[in-house]
Amino acid sequence: MSNNSYNFNDLMDKNENRQYIQITSPLDNSVIGKVPALNQEEVDRAIQSAKAAFPSWRNVPLNERAEILYKAANILLEHIDRLTELLVREVGKDRKSAGSEITRTADFIRFTADTAKSIHGESIQGDTFSGFNKEKFAVVTREPVGVVLAISPFNYPINLATSKIAPALIAGNTVIFKPATTGSLCGIELVNIFKAAGLPEGVLNIITGNGSEIGDYVVTHPDINFINFTGSTEVGIGISEKAHMVPLLMELGGKDAAIVLKDADLAFAAKNIIAGAFSYSGQRCTAVKRILVVNEVADLLISHLKEEIQKLQVGNPLEKQVDIVPLINTKAADYVWDLIEDAKAKGAQLIYGGEREGNLIYPTLFDYVTTDMRVAWEEPFGPVLPILRVNSIDEAVDLANQSEYGLQSSVFTENLHDAFHVASRLEVGTVQVNNKTERGPDHFPFLGVKKSGIGTQGIRYSIEAMTRVKATVINLS
Ligand code: NAP
Repeated sequence: MSNNSYNFNDLMDKNENRQYIQITSPLDNSVIGKVPALNQEEVDRAIQSAKAAFPSWRNVPLNERAEILYKAANILLEHIDRLTELLVREVGKDRKSAGSEITRTADFIRFTADTAKSIHGESIQGDTFSGFNKEKFAVVTREPVGVVLAISPFNYPINLATSKIAPALIAGNTVIFKPATTGSLCGIELVNIFKAAGLPEGVLNIITGNGSEIGDYVVTHPDINFINFTGSTEVGIGISEKAHMVPLLMELGGKDAAIVLKDADLAFAAKNIIAGAFSYSGQRCTAVKRILVVNEVADLLISHLKEEIQKLQVGNPLEKQVDIVPLINTKAADYVWDLIEDAKAKGAQLIYGGEREGNLIYPTLFDYVTTDMRVAWEEPFGPVLPILRVNSIDEAVDLANQSEYGLQSSVFTENLHDAFHVASRLEVGTVQVNNKTERGPDHFPFLGVKKSGIGTQGIRYSIEAMTRVKATVINLS
């Protein structure tokens, strides 16, 4: 075995005296598996393996890399039932969302392979600049960056991991993949699928362990050439401060606003907003996390919201199809509960919910939320939705922009002029007009401004981000 050899499955199987992390289901706290807590030497071995595999992987013809991706998409779909079940158990997703995460991921992989085939370099003539002539021109090509570190969050352990891995691989990079600890079992399955599709040894390497323990070592490792992170703003900022001179893509937290103007179709807006706020209990970066509604229509909107929120099914996805599931862990549930208590104590009017059974928090809607309440500004990552009433469009835009986050915003209106006017002033990566905030389809650009992220993802954008341009200047004179 060479020093660069790294086989994660060996680490899983060996019954040596090592530390393992138990993975428990958020649905019933049952232990559903264990993963090794890697030490620095093992993480280093994974990185050396990715580094060693890079020169040959980058030279594999694009159409062969694409074939491996197409095959991975097919294998993923062959295992859809088993993976759906694992998603339900490991991260507490409802079955319908879990199934669509798998199909969406297969689409993502195929589209990534297709897209890479249409990304070309260019040549630039010199004589468009004074003092130069046609004898000098630049051939511009795109090259892979090297070893990409992909760190993913718990909430879409298959799809968000793939959104980093597939574009990195098709571009000719090798990958170190650190899944969220809750989500590691899904991550391991995903890597095994890519390997079964024919990825050569060392090209994709999973590492497991608590981010707080191995994170610093891996993000500061000198052989990591690029970091592609999705997770909380707090962890993301920490990584960006430590990763010295390494290019980054960061998808972080959000506090997406749904702005409802006086001429909106209120029944339609309410339906959209409730779905956008509460699916998967609001554990989505692009969940609607506050409503900014103009006073004239606030009462009517709220009556529609009440009608919609009552339709949400609450409970355990192992037993039935539900919208509201137990939150991922007690820390997350306690945090959401603190926001609810704070809003209650400061005089917000509870419209619906406000109850808790263990880590299951009932969908909660507050009216008359004011800017001194934490829920007006903080990202709950749970099922609580504050309504802030405003007097004008300008006030709505100002409040939306006062957030430290800038992921997405919605604007609901039948007036195209107002929609564009509001959209042009919002400090966010994406504005949704008459649509809930959401991610996808995955070839749309996806980005956050302010503390919501750095750089742009989305299939083409992600491939471009994880490559760099090289200019070869030819002088024929
Ligand atoms: P998180 O706690 O920040 O964890 C994200 C990832 O970072 C996990 O793999 C985690 O590993 C790892 N990590 C933790 N500490 C680290 C460190 N010091 N160095 C390196 N890695 C470290 O986030 P989460 O709870 O999984 O996800 C929820 C958050 O993600 C929310 O804030 C949400 O808005 C955001 N999110 C954003 C997007 C987007 O596209 N903008 C999408 C989804 C989620 P461990 O699990 O082992 O701690």
